[in-house]
Amino acid sequence: MPQKIKVAVIGAGPSGLSAAEVLREDSRFEVTLYEKNSWVGGKCHTVFPDGTVTNGQKGGYEVGAVAITSKSSGYNELRELICKYDIPTSRFKDSSRSSFVFKPGSPNYVKALLKPNGLLAYGFEYLRYRRSKHAGYTNRPKVLNKSLSERYSPEVVSRFSHVVQGFGYAEFEDPALTPAVLYYHQYLEFGHLSLPLHTIDIGTQGIWARIAESYEAEQLLLNHDVTSIKRSPKGVKVTANHITKDYDYVVVSTPLSAAVRYLDQSADDAAFMSKMRYNHYVTILCEVDGLDAIGTLNRGACEQNDLLGEVMLNYKRFKDSNIGCLYLYQPKGKNYSDKELIELADKSLRNNLDASIVDKSKALVYHWKDYFGHLSQADLDDGWYNKFEDTYQLKNRTLFVSSGLHFETINASVQYGTREALRAIKQWAQ
Ligand SMILES: Cc1cc2nc3c(=O)[nH]c(=O)nc-3n(C[C@H](O)[C@H](O)[C@H](O)COP(=O)(O)OP(=O)(O)OC[C@H]3O[C@@H](n4cnc5c(N)ncnc54)[C@H](O)[C@@H]3O)c2cc1C
Repeated sequence: MPQKIKVAVIGAGPSGLSAAEVLREDSRFEVTLYEKNSWVGGKCHTVFPDGTVTNGQKGGYEVGAVAITSKSSGYNELRELICKYDIPTSRFKDSSRSSFVFKPGSPNYVKALLKPNGLLAYGFEYLRYRRSKHAGYTNRPKVLNKSLSERYSPEVVSRFSHVVQGFGYAEFEDPALTPAVLYYHQYLEFGHLSLPLHTIDIGTQGIWARIAESYEAEQLLLNHDVTSIKRSPKGVKVTANHITKDYDYVVVSTPLSAAVRYLDQSADDAAFMSKMRYNHYVTILCEVDGLDAIGTLNRGACEQNDLLGEVMLNYKRFKDSNIGCLYLYQPKGKNYSDKELIELADKSLRNNLDASIVDKSKALVYHWKDYFGHLSQADLDDGWYNKFEDTYQLKNRTLFVSSGLHFETINASVQYGTREALRAIKQWAQ
């Protein structure tokens, strides 16, 4: 029997697990996943109120990715994974995939009207839509609906248009809003009127926990922080926890900021990759008094750089609990302690939303320092993505599926990981 082609995948987030899935479906490959955390899922992270990882159990709170949106082909790869692993979803099966935006006047409302109590429900939701004091509901969709070409340079549009389903995103120098989340809170949490936003019953992290169950222990190395990768024409040496192993190829699925630290590369290469910058996103899980809605949004904090540090978004996942998830950004150039961030969040809640954190000593803080990779306009104009593709992608025995190379949503990460792995197979299995 011919020897298997050995591939190390670094990082068990959505893009790494998706790439690994493609490779291990091909019997010519043998895949080993390295993950520095004790759990899989990366920025999909679902926890119980005490902070323990749900690992596929129901009832958790999302402190990372919240919701799965998108439609049409952008969602195909993720939908396939969801079906393959029989992952329970709330709305996936009975929702129309043709539209996920739900607002007064849309055809979905017409459908809603035809249901029992439809008129009543429509009236209620319409009032709610009009009267929301926090979210600026009536304006926000216009901003988000700006076409890609209005918001991005042609290079980014051409890069991301196949994975971004027409909604807008934040400007480059802004922290990235998560449109999925905004839509979720603005339109989709309306009881029986809810429309095709797909929530995963076992949490977004549960998707990856479920998939991870199909790995043998020696194929999925948790608590393995990769500290060095050395590549040569003969193969790739991966070092984690002081142990070095040999592979034929490597898939880098950590953010580029992490890859720069462990990859053997010239100073010039490192400088080039370091141009990809990331926002510092923070989630605080805590008891909150006074959140009267499932989701409220402090719109000002999203749109103005000088409001960074204020709570951008908060939500209660369960109507009968007062635990909230608060999302905010570290202001640029600041490095607040957790205690300061909690104070900041509490102040922001009080000032903007008439709400407050119940017991600050019990609030849990999660840092996402490598959220949403972005480049300066000058680097975009200079053709950074094309240079990356020409110089690094699938060169030197390495496939990159790092976040920063794809749009920061679960489905985009899955799509990119899947497609690039298929490309890699063609080259590596010649
Ligand atoms: C607060 C927040 C809210 C979000 N909301 C949404 C949402 O509502 N909808 C949506 O679609 N998306 C959302 N996202 C984005 C989504 O989570 C990302 O698109 C996705 O997780 C990116 O996948 P990835 O595999 O590329 O990277 P990551 O998820 O970052 O995974 C990378 C993995 O690499 C591991 N790693 C890093 N360094 C090493 C090392 N040296 N050795 C070994 N392993 C290493 C990490 O531990 C991690 O597991 C959100 C993200 C955050 C943080």
